[in-house]
Order: sequence, then C-alpha cells, then structure tokens
Amino acid sequence: MKLTILGKWSPYPPAGGACPGYLVEADGVRILLDCGSGVVSSLHRFGTAFDLNAIVISHLHPDHFTDIYPLRNELAYGRLPDPPPIPVLLFAPAGAAGYLAACLPKPESRQEFTAGFTFRALEDGVGNAGGVRLRFVLTSHPMPCHGVEVSAGGRRLVYSADTGPCEALERLAAGCDLFLCESTLMEGDEHLSGQLGHLTGGMAGAAAQRAGVQRLMLTHFFTPRHAVKESSAAAAKEFGDVRVADEGVTYEV
Ligand SMILES: [Zn+2]
Ligand SMILES: [Zn+2]
Repeated sequence: MKLTILGKWSPYPPAGGACPGYLVEADGVRILLDCGSGVVSSLHRFGTAFDLNAIVISHLHPDHFTDIYPLRNELAYGRLPDPPPIPVLLFAPAGAAGYLAACLPKPESRQEFTAGFTFRALEDGVGNAGGVRLRFVLTSHPMPCHGVEVSAGGRRLVYSADTGPCEALERLAAGCDLFLCESTLMEGDEHLSGQLGHLTGGMAGAAAQRAGVQRLMLTHFFTPRHAVKESSAAAAKEFGDVRVADEGVTYEV
C-alpha cells in the first residue's frame, strides 16, 4: 500500500501547498482521502481524476472538500469529446450530495454534479472500493467527521481526519501500520482540544502510543504558524517513530 501526500495544511493552503488530500494506492485501487483546496492541482503530479476508484470526504468543513468542484469538472470535461466516465464512488457524510450541490446555481448543474458520483454514507461504518476494505468511525469534532481505515494486502492505514481526543479512533488505529494523524493545535493549547476538536502534536503522539501503532505521521498543520518542528518534537516525546507528512512524497505503508 502506498500513501502520497497531496496536501497537509489547514484552513487555507500556503504558496505551492494544499489543504488535506491523500492518495492511497493498494491492489491497483486508487482512493483519495479528502479533497481540500489545491488537491486537484497536486493530484495532477501523480495522475488524474479519471484514475480514482473512490473518494472519501471525511466531513463538510471547507478545507476538506472544496476541490471536489474542480475534480468534478475534470471528470465532466477532461476527456471531451468522449462521454463522461461512470460515476466515481464518493464516501461522505449523510446528506452530502444535497449539501455539496446546493451552491451550484441551476437545478441542471446540481443534477449534473451529483450524477458524477455514487454517494455512500460514512455513517454506514464500512465500505469497499474495488476490493479494498474501508472502515469509518466518528471522531471528536464540532461537526460529524469520520476517521478512516484502509486495509489491503495485510497492511492497514488509519487516517484521523479532524479530531480531538477520541477513544473510538484509537481503537480503529490499534496496531495499524501507519497512523496519519492531525496535529493542528500549538503545543500549550491542549486545553482547547475538546472545544475545537483538534490535537497538538504531543497529543497525537500520546494517541499513537496508546493505540500501539507501528508508525505515526503528522499532518493537518495550521497554516499561519507552520509549527511543524514543534509539533513533531512534542510527538516524539510520546511516541518513537514520528514522521511529518511531506507534500508530493509517496510513502510505503
Ligand atoms: Zn474540520
Ligand atoms: Zn480540517
């Protein structure tokens, strides 16, 4: 299984960067986890929207879904005059189809948008993309948000999406090969974790330690602070094998 970091910033992308987006490849299946601002541009360094077998939108905060519109445009117009491809499997919160389409101005635009995807609710708890198994758990966040497990070939990747401290997420991550975990908050802001539904790097490290994961990779960094080194140093005090997600880099899970 391979993981490529397409974007790791929140709530807006810096120059040349992108909001959350992660390309997972396993058993010939390509899955995009989240689709924030700048992700489609990053994706084109590794392929196109037509290569995707499934997309997961963890929740409906804009930093995780706004590039679904250019991605849909690529699917509609990227191979003209050929007819559009079959709808792409899209796992998203219940009601996402109506929510995402609502900003489009005309009924026919909304219908064209939703026809490009086959929607599946994250609330179902499980999914399947071309034989790759997916599991979802509700995280601790101010709106419904789901962490994701991707399993294939005996390897397991668990993505935290956005979360504060969350026992269900730690149970999902237990023993996984790679835990891709958010580290949004500054060290010292732990008291804001419950209210904001985010973690510090140190808290991500502690979660990885409790879950007994093999490796921890930090992501979802707060763009204005760029406190990547501080977060990873704090995580390393709690958990031995800490890496920082690097955009444009592909990792073996
Ligand atoms: Zn969020
Ligand atoms: Zn976010």
